[in-house]
Amino acid sequence: MKKRGNKLFVVIPCYNEEEVLHETTKRLKEKLETLIKNKVISKDSKVMYVNDGSKDKTWELIKEISAKEKLFTGITLSRNRGHQNALVGGLLTAKNYADVVISMDADLQDDINAIDEMLVKYNEGCDIVYGVRSARKTDTFFKRFTAEGFYKFMGMMGVDIVYNHADYRLTSKRVLDEFEGYKEVNLFLRGIFPTIGFKTDVVYYERAERFAGESKYPLKKMLNFAWDGITSFSVKPLRLIATLGFVILFISLLIMLYTLIQKIIGNTVDGWAFLNISIWFIGGLQMLSLGIIGEYVGKMYNETKARPRYIISENLMDK
Ligand code: UDP
Ligand code: MG
Repeated sequence: MKKRGNKLFVVIPCYNEEEVLHETTKRLKEKLETLIKNKVISKDSKVMYVNDGSKDKTWELIKEISAKEKLFTGITLSRNRGHQNALVGGLLTAKNYADVVISMDADLQDDINAIDEMLVKYNEGCDIVYGVRSARKTDTFFKRFTAEGFYKFMGMMGVDIVYNHADYRLTSKRVLDEFEGYKEVNLFLRGIFPTIGFKTDVVYYERAERFAGESKYPLKKMLNFAWDGITSFSVKPLRLIATLGFVILFISLLIMLYTLIQKIIGNTVDGWAFLNISIWFIGGLQMLSLGIIGEYVGKMYNETKARPRYIISENLMDK
């Protein structure tokens, strides 16, 4: 098989990560230097930090680091757009320079030694390599419970995702070129990449603890994220509404029966039976129809806005 281009960019979204950047830089520098020495990646490979509108000194640090280290560069978004958008900004920028891109978090919870294996698979012809957590020993019970529940729930809701895979992933330039065609605003990368296809594989690693700073993914963000993932990928919730509709209609039949019996026994005042049945039947039906239409309208609303997903205000590669 033809040898593939081996200029690697590692894309790292950073939001208020001043506490971890130095250590991350140190470890990644060692990693890249070894890979370059072993001729696995080319000499002009780089780590690209994406500053996601941090409120602390993150961007100043990134500029400092990229001025000092030739293996490091950075871009900054005009404001905080969230992890997924920052990642898209980074991936689509990096692909202009690189043959292959790996995305990972700034806190190095994802074992950077998995990069070697990812690159082996890439050289074997894989276009996407998913990093999958084999264990979550160091996560708190709560984080583990919510995170694993998240993957299970997504699966139940009909979203095709790789179990226990976050956004630690290798993608070839070709995949990213295709990815650029996905113009949707409701972003859920873990759902999109499996739909792109190409030859894929997984690499297992153990997830470590965040070595400094705290999680930028509180429960509220996580719930939003799950909701986004579901509503932008799956029609299952709509089907659930329909199911609920049938249930309510069935209940309204029972109520109809009950009402008629009361009427026959003579326990009713004039007009009560008719009203009672109507209220249940029409009420349920209307609520359901509204729910279903609302879901579609909501999606169309978001898609037709077609807002840019990110705006890069500065790109150190241009300097
Ligand atoms: N992040 C980001 N924008 C945000 C929130 C988070 O770019 O609005 C980045 C963050 O800097 C980190 C990655 O997303 O590199 C994952 O965040 P974190 O480690 O806090 O999430 P957790 O590992 O707790 O799920
Ligand atoms: Mg983390």
